[in-house]
Amino acid sequence: MVLFQKQEWVNLNNERLQKYANLLVRAGGNVQKGSPVVISSAVDDAYFARMVQDAAYDAGASDVTIDWTDDASVRAKFLRASSEVFDEFPEWRVAKLKYQDDKGSVYLRIESSDPDNLKGVESDRLQRFTKVASQATRPHAELMMSNALRWSIIALPSPAWARKVFPTITEAEAIDKLWTCILKAARADGDDPVAEWQKHRENFTKRVEYLNAQQFDSLHITTGLGTDFTVGLVQNHNWEGGGDIDKTGIPFFPNMPTEEVFTMPHRDRANGRVVASMPLTYQGNLIENFEMTFKNGIVIDYKAETNQDILKNLMETDEGARRLGEVALVANSSPIGQMGVLFYNTLFDENASAHLALGKAYPTNMQGAESLTTEQRTARGCNDSLIHEDFMFGTADMNITGIKPDGTEVNFFKNGEFDI
Ligand code: ZN
Ligand code: ZN
Repeated sequence: MVLFQKQEWVNLNNERLQKYANLLVRAGGNVQKGSPVVISSAVDDAYFARMVQDAAYDAGASDVTIDWTDDASVRAKFLRASSEVFDEFPEWRVAKLKYQDDKGSVYLRIESSDPDNLKGVESDRLQRFTKVASQATRPHAELMMSNALRWSIIALPSPAWARKVFPTITEAEAIDKLWTCILKAARADGDDPVAEWQKHRENFTKRVEYLNAQQFDSLHITTGLGTDFTVGLVQNHNWEGGGDIDKTGIPFFPNMPTEEVFTMPHRDRANGRVVASMPLTYQGNLIENFEMTFKNGIVIDYKAETNQDILKNLMETDEGARRLGEVALVANSSPIGQMGVLFYNTLFDENASAHLALGKAYPTNMQGAESLTTEQRTARGCNDSLIHEDFMFGTADMNITGIKPDGTEVNFFKNGEFDI
C-alpha cells in the first residue's frame, strides 16, 4: 500500500496549486485593492489556505482572516454535545458575520469535506441546527444571494473525500485522480486559468441572452428516466449563468466550477413527475433513486429508495421547502457531465446535469426584485424558505420545449444539448 505523503504531494503540485489559489482570488472573489477577505478552510488544508491568503494580499486585500474548520470537530459535536446546543446559534457568530459584511468582505471558501462526515448523526439534531443556523444567518445569506457581497467556493481533494469518490484504488492514487478531476472540472488545468474563465464567461452570454429574450411562460421537460414535468417561470424572469456581477459592477464567480444557466420557477406553477438522475447528498447522507410529483407548485408525493426520512426532513423544514426556487440547465457535454464521476458534492454534481432546487429562490432571477418587499415577491411567484437544495434530473436524452405566453412552442434543448 502506498501512503499519501501530503508534503510530497504539495511539492509536486506546487505550481498548479498556486495558479488555482490565484484563480479563486482573481476570477472567483475578484479581490480588489482595499477589500477585506475572509477565507474558510479546513485545518488540514492550511497549506492551500496560506497560498490563497498570499494571493489575496498580492491582489490588494487590506486584511485576510482565516476561519478554520475541521470535519472531526464538527462530527464530534453532533455525536457528543448536549442536545440543547442544537437549538441555538451563537450570537457572537452572527455578530462576527455582520461585522465582516458591514466592512464589505469578500468570502472565499475552500471545500474538501468528507461527504460521509455526518453519517450516523441523529437527523433530528441536524435538522434543528440547520434551522436555527439558517434563521440566524439569514441577513448574511440575503446579502450573498442578492450579490451585495462577493463570494466564491472552490474545492480541494482531501483523503476522505478522494477515498469516497474512488474507493477501489489506493488513497494516494485517489487523491491524484480527484485532483485531476477537480482541475478539469474547474477549467484550471491549462496554463492560464484566469484567462480561461474570461472565455467561459463570454460563452455563457449567448445562452443567457437568448433565453432572456424568449421570456418563456413555462418549460416542458422530459427524460428517458420518466421525468415529464412542466414548470412555470415567473413573469420578467432573469436567466443567469457564467458568474455574477455585484452591486458595484464588479464581476465574480460564486462557484468554481459552474456550467449552469438558471432562473426562477413560479412557486405555484410546477406540475408533473420529476425523476432524479443522480443521488442527492444532504447533511452527509446520500438520498438515492428518488422522485417527486408536483401539483400547483407543491410536492404532493415523493419516494426514495434510500434515506426517504432525510428527504422528508428536508421537505418539512418549512412551507417553502416543498416548492421550487431554481430551475437550471446544463449541457450533457459539460466537462463534469462527460467525466461521469459522482463527486458526492453539490458544487460538482449540480454542474453535471440539469437540476431543480427545493426552497429559496435567488431574487436576482426576477427583474426588479430588489425594490419589492418579500410579500410582493411572493405574490409574483418568488419562493422563500430556509433551505435551498439542488437535485439533479438531467440526462443525455433530455428534451425541453419552451412555451411562450401565446402558446408558441420552441424545442430549444434536444438530446441533452442546447440547440440555440
Ligand atoms: Zn444551480
Ligand atoms: Zn441551486
